[in-house]
Amino acid sequence: MHRMTCGSLLILLIVLLLASSVTNAQKLKVYISADMEGITGVVSADQTGAGPDYGMARKWMTDDVNAAIVGALEAGATEVVVNDSHGDMRNILPGELNPNAALISGSPKPFGMMQGIDASFDAVMFVGYHARAGTVDAVLDHTISSAVVYSIRINGIEMPELGINALVAGYYNVPVVMLSGDRSACEQAKEVLGEKTVVAQVKEAIGRTAAKNLSFEGARKLIRQQAKSAIEKRKELKPYKLNAPYRFELAYFRSSQTDNALSVRGVKRISPRAVQFESEDFIVGCKLLRALISLGRDN
Ligand SMILES: [Zn+2]
Repeated sequence: MHRMTCGSLLILLIVLLLASSVTNAQKLKVYISADMEGITGVVSADQTGAGPDYGMARKWMTDDVNAAIVGALEAGATEVVVNDSHGDMRNILPGELNPNAALISGSPKPFGMMQGIDASFDAVMFVGYHARAGTVDAVLDHTISSAVVYSIRINGIEMPELGINALVAGYYNVPVVMLSGDRSACEQAKEVLGEKTVVAQVKEAIGRTAAKNLSFEGARKLIRQQAKSAIEKRKELKPYKLNAPYRFELAYFRSSQTDNALSVRGVKRISPRAVQFESEDFIVGCKLLRALISLGRDN
């Protein structure tokens, strides 16, 4: 067998390193989580559920997501994965989604709104997102469940869904670079994730079930431009992280909803309506949070 000298081994190593950096430079994976309340045109739960306008709103959602996909592709994305994150998670029209994107559709999914995220992605975008429960002038404001959750705090910060989902992405070291939604959702994105977060404000809410919307054409142009610019500046945006141990506080609407939660080990009541637990691992804590929300539905 031919014996390699130290010099030739070194050259081989350099060639392999260069080759891998070239492949990495060419790969740019973008993850999109798409909700419905912040979609252009949506102002009422009739449009996000079983109401007569639901069919139309599915098309609006697909078109907002398509605008974000095109912006990502223009910025050099080589792979785009879209996770349908609203309700039963079967809202986006698969046949009308940009053919360059893969679609995760249906539920239940272990990671819910963040199903499919992992450390191989370079950037996350939230399309059609909404403000947390208890926000004034915010289309269909809620946090995960409008029937169960009054508020969720993690390490003392009152979280909108965008914050919780950004922490899931941050667990894998992936930054959230852009969000589209109404004005309140955009403000909360900057407040929680940082001023540099790129936003596409497609509407301004008037109360909870009315809004002044951009034209569909104007909104999609904005989403496309902002998505492109966000992906281009992804390296300036840091993954969202908090320090372990993570302290989760879940306030229900009614005190009876805490009763089931207290049967879970490690969960304690901190007020008539609220429970608290701690977790060293964020994903483990997040799964327990979702389980406690489900338990609250029975009471
Ligand atoms: Zn939703």
